[in-house]
Amino acid sequence: MSDTAWSFVFAGRRLLLKSTGDGASVPTSQDVAGLLEALGPNAERFDVVLPALRGRDSRLHAVPDDFEAPDGFELTALRATHALLDKPFFRAAGTARQKIEWVRTHRFCSRCGAPTERGTGHEAMECTTCGQLHFARLTPAIIVLIQRGREALLGRSPHFTPGVYSTLAGFVEPGESLEECVRREIQEEVGVRVTNLQYFGSQPHPFPHSLMVGFIADWESGDIRLEPDELEDARWFTPETMPDLPHRMSIARALIEDFIKRVGS
Ligand SMILES: [Zn+2]
Repeated sequence: MSDTAWSFVFAGRRLLLKSTGDGASVPTSQDVAGLLEALGPNAERFDVVLPALRGRDSRLHAVPDDFEAPDGFELTALRATHALLDKPFFRAAGTARQKIEWVRTHRFCSRCGAPTERGTGHEAMECTTCGQLHFARLTPAIIVLIQRGREALLGRSPHFTPGVYSTLAGFVEPGESLEECVRREIQEEVGVRVTNLQYFGSQPHPFPHSLMVGFIADWESGDIRLEPDELEDARWFTPETMPDLPHRMSIARALIEDFIKRVGS
């Protein structure tokens, strides 16, 4: 392992990147040593471990939300880094953000209120008084492509980039199986019934701590009836009439590209 580590430095939801002329990259510990030193106690180091990345360890830091990137660096919203970073770095940045969020929101025990510290032998925050372990929070969500012959049902939320449609998604509720969640979310959001659920794959989604579980489902019955609090539009699209799609590294995009490949264009 090299002495030099990758440095994931966050100012709120923005990640510090080193400008490289035509793009940007994750800086090394040497690149950021000076700026972290200048921030002194305002730069917080997080004692959490990421998997090795190209033979190097990673260090995680948080700096004040209003930190301004010095010359040669830029601060980029984590979501936007998918366009700048190779997939392993984009994934590691998401994991880093998720672990920082976990430590920051588990400084005190939710059972007895005493301070916590990093547990030994567990990737957990451990209560210094009652011993309760607090693991990183993960929120499962389903995401589903609904198919009807050569058509796929895609919707858009008001938060999406204009013109972009995507597969439907929703959070799993306590007591619910993933399959029950798929049926309920689809019924609630677009009013149709589905059958023949097939597992597609999963993807960590660190905004802030979801795990997306992807499915393909066949339309069974019902016309689209929108739930206006969730979606502003939903329609059936063929490979020939596809709208703008979500970004290339998303599981939503993978579901849609898989559909296009299967039904042919
Ligand atoms: Zn406690």
